[in-house]
Amino acid sequence: MTIDVQSLKNISPIISNIARGEEMFWKNPDYLNKQSFPFTLDDVIDAEQRLTRFAPYIAKVFPETQNNQGKIESQIFQLNHFKKTQFPHLKSNLLLKGDHALPISGSIKARGGIYEVLKFAEETAIKETDFTVNSDYSLLATDYYQDIFSKYRIAVGSTGNLGLSIGIMSAQLGFKVTVHMSQDAKEWKKDLLKSKGVEVVEHIQDYGYAVKEGRKIAMNDPYCHFVDDEASKDLFLGYSVSALRLEKQLKEANIKVDQDHPLFVYLPCGVGGGPGGVAFGLKLIFGDNVHPVFIEPTEAPCMALGMITKLHDGISVQDVGLSGKTIADGLAVSRPSKLVGTIMSTLLFGSCTVEDNQLYRYLKALKDTENIFIEPSATSGFHGLKYIHDLNYDSQHATHIVWSTGGNMVPDKEQSIYYQQAIDIERRSY
Ligand SMILES: *Cc1c(COP(=O)(O)O)cnc(C)c1O
Repeated sequence: MTIDVQSLKNISPIISNIARGEEMFWKNPDYLNKQSFPFTLDDVIDAEQRLTRFAPYIAKVFPETQNNQGKIESQIFQLNHFKKTQFPHLKSNLLLKGDHALPISGSIKARGGIYEVLKFAEETAIKETDFTVNSDYSLLATDYYQDIFSKYRIAVGSTGNLGLSIGIMSAQLGFKVTVHMSQDAKEWKKDLLKSKGVEVVEHIQDYGYAVKEGRKIAMNDPYCHFVDDEASKDLFLGYSVSALRLEKQLKEANIKVDQDHPLFVYLPCGVGGGPGGVAFGLKLIFGDNVHPVFIEPTEAPCMALGMITKLHDGISVQDVGLSGKTIADGLAVSRPSKLVGTIMSTLLFGSCTVEDNQLYRYLKALKDTENIFIEPSATSGFHGLKYIHDLNYDSQHATHIVWSTGGNMVPDKEQSIYYQQAIDIERRSY
């Protein structure tokens, strides 16, 4: 299908901004319109219960989760110092949801990715043995189950972080696992996976290609489960569990969310599953009182493009002349998930883009003021906050949560390189 870019630009002038690689904010005109959804709160609770069943197993094989009883969850941080220097005029509370420090794989992918692998392991154990949902899940760490899982392969296409979470979890359970990595994937991520016995297939093409290749190879193998980042219901629900957890954390912190206390949530968006799952879960719980905003790189705004044009995965960022290349490797995606774009069509408050240089600035500012390192993709959320503030949506009673999607697995050496880049960018701009 060829895309008539000129007529798209005529329909929505914002397409012209996007095509020129400019930063933009798009307020979704269909926000809060009526719609029916493919999942319910019961589906999210079912996913949460599955994770609870697995908690004894997780605590056993990943000791770093023991202090949280095998629950894979992150803290919320108050960003008072960061706020003072970066958003001095913000009237309300600024929080960081610290998924950069999620156990096991150090990114938001430790939610959806690990959930999908666990669900497949549970189904396999039930199918092949007398295992039931009432069994002792820590038994899954024994040789008996490892042998059974070793007959199966799990495959995935990834820009890096999804590969890490799927690879680490699958290898731990005893599955064979293949990760198809796109050109954006960092060497250290590939090396780490290889050290765990994961088969890493390196593609010189982009993320969409890596997913397509992975899907094709997996289709011919009845013992292969393909984790489909563009269309997986399980991934989506795994991410959405975060909403139940956040609700509890906000309550514990005495932070109100109601008609007079709106909650804005800033979510870095790649193919859409992570931010879409989180936003969907939050909408089920907080309804019209929560406002999700997606943020994408100026060179890879695939979800914005898909939603504005309503073409979803029928349009790519290359169709409007963008490169799809960005320092935000977790967001280097050219074509969005149709599943997510469709669900978000009435649930997304708005969407914006950010230049790579700005990501470095936020990265350095957060390190300097709060001593928190997060990877460039994860800093993009702050730019959503900037727009919401500049456009006067902020209020005294609002709460802003920037979702920090990755970072603490990034090796020290790579962290210093990012930081040095940020210094260079600041110097050049004087
Ligand atoms: C994957 C990822 C995202 C976005 O998730 P999608 O499901 O691809 O939209 C954001 N930040 C980081 C660090 C990621 O790895």
